[in-house]
Amino acid sequence: MRRFVSSQDCGYYHPMSASDPDPVLPRRVADLRRRLLAWYHSERRTMPWREKPSAYGTVVSEFMLQQTQVAAVIPYFERFLREFPGFPQLARASEERVLAAWSGLGYYRRARFLKKAAETILRDHAGKLPNNSESLRALPGFGEYTTAAVGSIALGLPLACVDGNVRRVVARLTRLRDPSVEQTREIADALLDRKSPGDWNQAMMELGATVCTPRAPRCLVCPVRIHCAAFTTGDAESFHAPKRAEKTKHVHEIAVAVMHNGKALVLQRAHGNSFGGMWELPRLDSREVDADELSPEHVLKTLTGLAARTPEEIGSARSVFTHHRINTKLFRVAAGRIARVRLTDRHTESAWIEISELASLGASRAQKRLFELIQSSIR
Ligand code: SF4
Repeated sequence: MRRFVSSQDCGYYHPMSASDPDPVLPRRVADLRRRLLAWYHSERRTMPWREKPSAYGTVVSEFMLQQTQVAAVIPYFERFLREFPGFPQLARASEERVLAAWSGLGYYRRARFLKKAAETILRDHAGKLPNNSESLRALPGFGEYTTAAVGSIALGLPLACVDGNVRRVVARLTRLRDPSVEQTREIADALLDRKSPGDWNQAMMELGATVCTPRAPRCLVCPVRIHCAAFTTGDAESFHAPKRAEKTKHVHEIAVAVMHNGKALVLQRAHGNSFGGMWELPRLDSREVDADELSPEHVLKTLTGLAARTPEEIGSARSVFTHHRINTKLFRVAAGRIARVRLTDRHTESAWIEISELASLGASRAQKRLFELIQSSIR
């Protein structure tokens, strides 16, 4: 790989080998840094974790922001900090309470890792974020990106972040069609402002999110366009162009609400999958069962050993994911008595819960929608 050297003093860096495709490197790095940081300080979006920064708030926000938009995260972040104001409170809370507070935000592994990280910080670091990259990297859920983001923003460590936004900005600044993560990391590290690494990383990501967007980058208002090699081509969008979206798969799912005296049967997912620890209605989909076998009777028999007598369809819901879409049909079945449930290894617990209390369970957004359908069906 081509190697770069950077100099904080002179603000220049130079290619050291000629074997790779040529990145066109900014010649005046100090000026680029000055312009981007000035823009960031005057134009950055308001976010609660930026307005009142703290090490704990930075960690929580970085976990929540993985694969989730800023606007969706803000209300969750504010509620989460009210309920668990610091590492000790989060470490001591039950996993069930943490999952309930995360409920609806998706990707629940993040919540479990965040809680485990808080436990490690309390146990091994006296409740304080460790102040070096090796110890940060050893915390549960801390990958390369999270270590760099938390290390630079909360602790001022000189670590360059590489996410999708940074990769695109770097590709365009240097006119590389599709740089690898390693190549991006090397260039991002050379560009990093070591005096303000946290602001610098946030500025690069903010530029990618709001100006140097995947489609139709707003080059004419870009603070660093005079340093941008892609800008001079007049076709900036084609550098690190968005990949053509994969064809969306359609999945059919059946969920069953077994009801008895104002209560519904819910099952708790076993740990070891993305919904581990969360509550849900018995459900199966067309990826697990042949379409002609998929019925409320089959779902109930398979997952609980119960018989579904005269199931009645009470609604449907749709969940959209990156590569697939799930259409769920919800059926209601009246149970004459609270029967013994025979669980498979997919679930660890079953419970009969008052309909009015379903909303407080730790459950995915899709399941919460089904709980609402149950509630509206009995009004
Ligand atoms: Fe991106 Fe255009 Fe700015 Fe270059 S000039 S960094 S392509 S927005």
